[in-house]
Amino acid sequence: MRTGSVSLETGRRAGEMADTLVLRALRGNAKHLDLSGKKLRRVPKAVGRLFELNRLQLKNNLISDLPAELQALNNLTELNLGNNSFEALPEVLKHLRQLRKLHLFDNKLEALSPNVLECLENLTFLNLNKNKLTTLPEEICRLAQLKYLTVNNNQLESVPSKLCLLQHLCELHLAHNKLKSLPHDIGYLTNLKKLSVPRNEIQVLPEELCVLRNLKVLDVAGNQLHIFPTKLLYLKLEEFYYEQNPLLEKDLITSTQMNEVLTLQEITARYILNGLSGNSLSEALEHYPEARKILAHASLCAVCKRSFLNTWLECVSFVDLAKKISITSPVHVVPIRALLCSYKCFNESGHQFYGIAIP
Ligand SMILES: [Zn+2]
Repeated sequence: MRTGSVSLETGRRAGEMADTLVLRALRGNAKHLDLSGKKLRRVPKAVGRLFELNRLQLKNNLISDLPAELQALNNLTELNLGNNSFEALPEVLKHLRQLRKLHLFDNKLEALSPNVLECLENLTFLNLNKNKLTTLPEEICRLAQLKYLTVNNNQLESVPSKLCLLQHLCELHLAHNKLKSLPHDIGYLTNLKKLSVPRNEIQVLPEELCVLRNLKVLDVAGNQLHIFPTKLLYLKLEEFYYEQNPLLEKDLITSTQMNEVLTLQEITARYILNGLSGNSLSEALEHYPEARKILAHASLCAVCKRSFLNTWLECVSFVDLAKKISITSPVHVVPIRALLCSYKCFNESGHQFYGIAIP
């Protein structure tokens, strides 16, 4: 009982203090209101009358919802709700169409309601660190202006492909989650400069990652990676963190293999791909979109540089990154995936590609 009355008293005093601050802000027609760390459980409804408000700080309180009166804040561009008790996105956010920056770190969010999320179309910054999210809704792609997204320390098992439609995204932070993979569409995030996905359970990085020409920082430390994508060196990285992964080690044994029998489709595809290239290939296939679609998946052999379609050998080369790229973070020799067209190429001497022994 005693504890109860004490906390009630504290709550009342906190409320009064907040009311005083709001009154003062009302008188001064304030553009900025800071109610951080006031032990508030509720936001005073009068805040909704601060029509000129740009920035509202409500972090470090005990708030679990926002009053509907806040929908009148047509000029609000920044809202900090960090370290509170929100279990869902407050409905009133639907009306705050001018919002650019939204902080929701350290709350109890288990899911993001799509109907609220899709209204936040002017957000450039969204911080969802330290919540209980297991997934992000596809509607995240409606945040077309988003530049900075951070969802560290959640329980994400996957991220939707549609996230890759965020054309303006510069930084994506997904550290300390349960991700097993990254979407193949990641190559569409053409403005991405920083991708931070350490401490997850990622086993393979998508090849498409290597088309991100603006990527400067890649952090994949503490995952389950054995090997890096074939075109890793195409990236123009300035920082690369990959420690604590079970990377393949260079521990060589000799092996010679019998050449394999290719399927008719593979033989035909190789014949066409290597006989015709570039323009003459697209001319020849002008009326055969299906064939064009199939042949679009072709790759080049790392040894003979000729094309192949579906039959290839996964090999590895060990590359000393320190000699290959100029980078500020410490880098060493890493295993990079290489694809070979045949055992014939594999058995040839003079190359530095090794088969992968399955333990
Ligand atoms: Zn070859």
